[in-house]
Amino acid sequence: MTQFNSFMDIALEQAAAAADRGEVPVGAVIVRNGDVIASAGNRTRELNDPTAHAEILAIRAACDVLGAERLTNADLYVTLEPCPMCAAAISNARLARLYYGASDPKSGGVEQGPRIFQHAQCHHAPEVYDGINAKPAERLLTDFFAKLRE
Ligand SMILES: [Zn+2]
Repeated sequence: MTQFNSFMDIALEQAAAAADRGEVPVGAVIVRNGDVIASAGNRTRELNDPTAHAEILAIRAACDVLGAERLTNADLYVTLEPCPMCAAAISNARLARLYYGASDPKSGGVEQGPRIFQHAQCHHAPEVYDGINAKPAERLLTDFFAKLRE
C-alpha cells in the first residue's frame, strides 16, 4: 500500500502543479517495473487542446520513452477517475493496471457513465483499483473550483 501511495503522491504533485497553471487539477503517473517512466498534469488550456488530459499526456510521454505504441506491463496512477476518452486510451495502450483517486460522477467513464472497460467492444481492460488517496485529490479539485467561483 505504501508503494501505491508514493506513486499517487507524484500524481498529486502533478495535479497541484496543474492547478498552479490554472488547469483543472488532475495528475497522472505511469510506472513500469517499479520505475516512474512518465508523469503529467492537465494542460488543455495551455496547449489549446481538449485532449491534453493528464492521462493522455502521460501515455504519450511513456510511449515516447519506451519507443512503443503499447504500455504492456505498465500501470497508470491518476488522481481522478478517467473520462471516457482517457479510459479508451488506457485500453488502447494496453496498460495493465489503473489506480485512481477520486470518483468523478460528472465526467467519469470507468465506474460510472459509459463504463468503457465493461463494453463488449473494449478489447483490453486493465485491473482497476479506485479510491487510492482519494481525499487529497478531491480537495485539490474542490479548492480549484471554489476559487473559480470567487
Ligand atoms: Zn480524460
